[in-house]
Amino acid sequence: MNSIKLSDIRKSYGSTVAVDGIDLVIEPGELFFLLGPSGCGKTTLLRMIAGFIEPTGGSIHFDDRNVTSTPPNKRNTGMVFQSYALWPHMTVAENVGYGLVLRKIPADQRATRVQRALEMVQMGDYAQRKPNELSGGQQQRVALARALVVEPGVLLLDEPLSNLDAKLRLEMRSEIRRICKEAGITTVYVTHDQDEALSMADRVAVLRNGKAVQVGDPRTLYRRPATRFVAEFLGETNFISAEVVGRTDAGVELQTPVGKMLASSDQGSVPERGSVTCSIRPEAFRVVPDHEYVASTASDVVEAEGVTGSESKQLDRRIGGGDLNSFEGEVEHQVFLGDQAQYHVRIGDDMLVRALQLNPTGESQGRLRVSVDPDDIVILSD
Ligand code: ATP
Repeated sequence: MNSIKLSDIRKSYGSTVAVDGIDLVIEPGELFFLLGPSGCGKTTLLRMIAGFIEPTGGSIHFDDRNVTSTPPNKRNTGMVFQSYALWPHMTVAENVGYGLVLRKIPADQRATRVQRALEMVQMGDYAQRKPNELSGGQQQRVALARALVVEPGVLLLDEPLSNLDAKLRLEMRSEIRRICKEAGITTVYVTHDQDEALSMADRVAVLRNGKAVQVGDPRTLYRRPATRFVAEFLGETNFISAEVVGRTDAGVELQTPVGKMLASSDQGSVPERGSVTCSIRPEAFRVVPDHEYVASTASDVVEAEGVTGSESKQLDRRIGGGDLNSFEGEVEHQVFLGDQAQYHVRIGDDMLVRALQLNPTGESQGRLRVSVDPDDIVILSD
C-alpha cells in the first residue's frame, strides 16, 4: 500500500478548469473519499491519479515515487468503474484472472490468487458463471476482485455503487469498507452521495469548482463545516444570520433577529465583530411543546454549565435571566416521518427553522419551544 501525495495538481480543457490546484496527502491504508456535486472535478482527479489523464500542472507521488508522467499500467493501481466493465464472454474466474495473465503470472499461482480474491468478496462459488448470470451487486463484487487480485498499491473506485438499487447500495457500503480494510489497501473513492461518504470514509475531501474546499473525517465535516457550501452539501441545515457581539470564556455571543445566542468557541476562525452566518442542523434543536415547557432560569443554566463566580454573573446578564438558546415559535407545518417528525417553526417575524423530533409521541401544533446547545451552532466563514 502506498501513500498518495498530490501537489498543486491541475487540469484544464481549453478555458474549462476541471481541477484547480489541489494539494492532498492520502495515508497508506486510508479509505479516502472525493465528494462533490456533478462537474466539480472528482472524476478528472481520480483519472489523473490512475494515469488516464495527464495533468496540466503539479505532481503526483506514490510514496516517494513521482508518478506524474508514469503510464497507467506502470502505476500498480486497481480501478473499479461505474459500469463494472466485465468481459461478457469470459467467466468470472477469467475476468478476475485477466490482469494476472497480462502480468505473466504462472497458471497455478493465478488460480490460487483468483480464488482468494473471489473469496474475499464472497464470490468463491461463482467462479464459472458468466457476468450476465450475476446480479448487479455480484458483478460489482467481481469488478472489485478483479481490481484487488493484482495486489495494487492503490485502489481507485469511480462511483462504484451508482448502478445498484437503494437496498443493495446500503449493503455494499459496509462490504466495500470491509474489503478495503481487510486488504489494507489505500483507496480513493469518488462519489456525489454524501451519505455514502459519511458512512464509509476515513477522511473526505469536499470538492467544488475544481478545488478541495474542506478535508476531514466525516464527523468533523458534518459537525464543523467550514463554509455554507459544505454545511449544505453534507445534509439538511438551517442558516441563521447573526452579528458577533462579544466573546467570553463561555463562548461566542451572537445577536440574531430573534434574540441572543451563545455558540461554543470550539470553531474555525470567527471574526471579533460583524456579520456571520450560523448553521444549525434540524436534529440539533430540542423541540418541546409549549405546555410542557417550564422555563429554566439563568441559575439552572449556570449550574448545568458548571460556570461560577464572575462568569456566572456575565452569563446571567447575557441571557437576561431566561433560557439559553431557547426560542418560542409557532408550528407552520409538520411532516410525520415515522420514527421522527419535522417541524417548520416560525420564530418571531423573520425566522423559519426546520427542527427534527425523534420518536414523536403525538402531534405538536400551535406554539412550541426549540432550543439548541452552544456546541451545535456552527459559525461559518462564508
Ligand atoms: P460527475 O459527477 O458529473 O461525473 P465530476 O465531478 O466527476 O462530475 P469531471 O468529470 O471531473 O466532474 O469534470 C469536471 C469539469 O471538467 C466539468 O466542467 C466537465 O465538463 C469538464 N470536463 C471533463 N472532461 C472534459 C473533457 N474531456 N473536455 C472538456 N471538458 C471536460
